[in-house]
Amino acid sequence: MNSGKLIIFSAPSGAGKTTIVQHLLRVIPGLEFSVSACSRPIRKGEVNGVDYYFLSVDEFRQKIQNDEFIEWEEVYKDNFYGTLRSEVFRIWNRGHHVIFDVDVEGGLNLKGQYTGRALAVFIMPPSIESLENRLRQRETETSESIARRLGKAEKELKTAGQFDVVVLNDTLAHALAESEKVVKDFLKI
Ligand code: ADP
Ligand code: 5GP
Repeated sequence: MNSGKLIIFSAPSGAGKTTIVQHLLRVIPGLEFSVSACSRPIRKGEVNGVDYYFLSVDEFRQKIQNDEFIEWEEVYKDNFYGTLRSEVFRIWNRGHHVIFDVDVEGGLNLKGQYTGRALAVFIMPPSIESLENRLRQRETETSESIARRLGKAEKELKTAGQFDVVVLNDTLAHALAESEKVVKDFLKI
């Protein structure tokens, strides 16, 4: 589909972007989630090909060599994440718009490559403390991993102004409603 758009949701880890994107997929027709590739270990409850395409570090490096990624990043040591070109074309060919849940750098990279065709939304947490609490409550990260994610967050928060829209995720109900509105306005639905 030539009119296929990109909806990008970015934020520091723990800000709530996955929760918001999953909600939008349920309530807005015509959106399809871009499944990223990554080389981190699979978490309990995650499904290969649904949450991510889980690759080994070597497999990921091979795909970088083959230029199969629109964008990729080593978000944390040996934890590569990236968007496969084939994924975006797969979704557009099905007549859908692509929605992304990517980190801040990946989000700005995608926005830069698809000017005019992309909406880039930054999800702002109320504070760094709330990020820490949310990551702890999610119970998916070790203390070391939480510390690493918070360490990156301060720098990431400074990029908010480079996005098209900033949505504050204070109460989830507010953030869901606001996100739904900005996406529908962009898609004119
Ligand atoms: P991200 O994808 O940005 O890393 P998640 O969507 O996984 O963030 O959210 C991190 C945790 O915070 C999850 O456990 C989620 O249920 C919770 N959460 C999301 N939004 C809020 C909110 N507004 N208030 C409290 N907890 C929230
Ligand atoms: P997690 O390990 O919590 O699933 O994700 C870690 C970080 O990697 C998150 O900030 C997430 O948004 C980011 N991420 C997920 N997919 C991609 C991607 O395709 N590209 C980039 N650059 N980052 C991604």
